[in-house]
Amino acid sequence: MSRLWCAHVSADTLNGIDLHCHSTASDGTLTPKAVVARALEQGVRVLALTDHDSIGGLAEAATAADMSGLKLVKGVEISVTWEGQLFHIIGLGIDPANEALQTGIEMLRRRRDGRGSAMAAGLAALGVPEPLAGARRQQTTNILSRTHFARHLVATGFAATVEEAILQLLVPGKPGYVHVEWATLDEAVGWIRAAGGDAVIAHPGRYRLETQQRERLVDAFMAAGGMGIEVVCGRMADDHIATYSELALRRGLRASLGSDFHEPGTGIEIGRLAALPDALQPVWKARDWAPT
Ligand code: AMP
Ligand code: MN
Ligand code: MN
Ligand code: MN
Repeated sequence: MSRLWCAHVSADTLNGIDLHCHSTASDGTLTPKAVVARALEQGVRVLALTDHDSIGGLAEAATAADMSGLKLVKGVEISVTWEGQLFHIIGLGIDPANEALQTGIEMLRRRRDGRGSAMAAGLAALGVPEPLAGARRQQTTNILSRTHFARHLVATGFAATVEEAILQLLVPGKPGYVHVEWATLDEAVGWIRAAGGDAVIAHPGRYRLETQQRERLVDAFMAAGGMGIEVVCGRMADDHIATYSELALRRGLRASLGSDFHEPGTGIEIGRLAALPDALQPVWKARDWAPT
């Protein structure tokens, strides 16, 4: 494998662009306005707010970004089930007024509510007090996330951290996990494109995929009209950039980068990202939000 793309990569490089983060519109702890303020403090000049199955924070973020010197890219992170596994597909540059997108994510929001009741039953059996009411207290808008259950599990002493709560209790095979059929890959990419956006595979290192299956995912994603993949993430394995740069170049995918920031104090910060290797085509090529 060529080492071409390793030349410009250094950890913790501030390069002023972050195309993946969360607010209280889904499972982040900062309001959209506070996310924009924090991004500015971090030297970010192009920021995509990409809440899970929600566009509810975009108007507030856009108002906060207006005249601030920060370009807000309107985004979303859509939950997808493909070959039985959960994937996240980011939409960048979407029009939140698009009806296909609105209808689609409203369907997912309702599935989240239905899942919440089923998750609560599993957690109650473990002795967790008030699992649904507790998660609802952690919830900040109309999106109910496993993160809210995890925060309740931390608050009640069932886990030390949100991540531990998720990994010990809320992933497949664990008592608080409930399977949901989210959007299909075709639906998610279709809604994003209908809304004028570009679809990007989020944090590709997070999925359990055999080599052939990963190629099949890219086939299906591109056939649906998907265009990019996160080559740089806030948390990633040492070989992540090399692995996904190779994939992006070989398969003709554009490259994105995003921290997946959710809350202060976790070690993941807005805009604190390695640079994209120069050999790649960035997702912002030919977009009016390209960094200057
Ligand atoms: P949900 O979208 O409600 O299923 O919640 C999943 C959320 O849990 C993700 O958006 C992440 O914020 C968080 N999370 C953290 N670590 C993991 C993990 N290893 N697997 C799945 N979710 C995780
Ligand atoms: Mn999340
Ligand atoms: Mn994600
Ligand atoms: Mn995310």
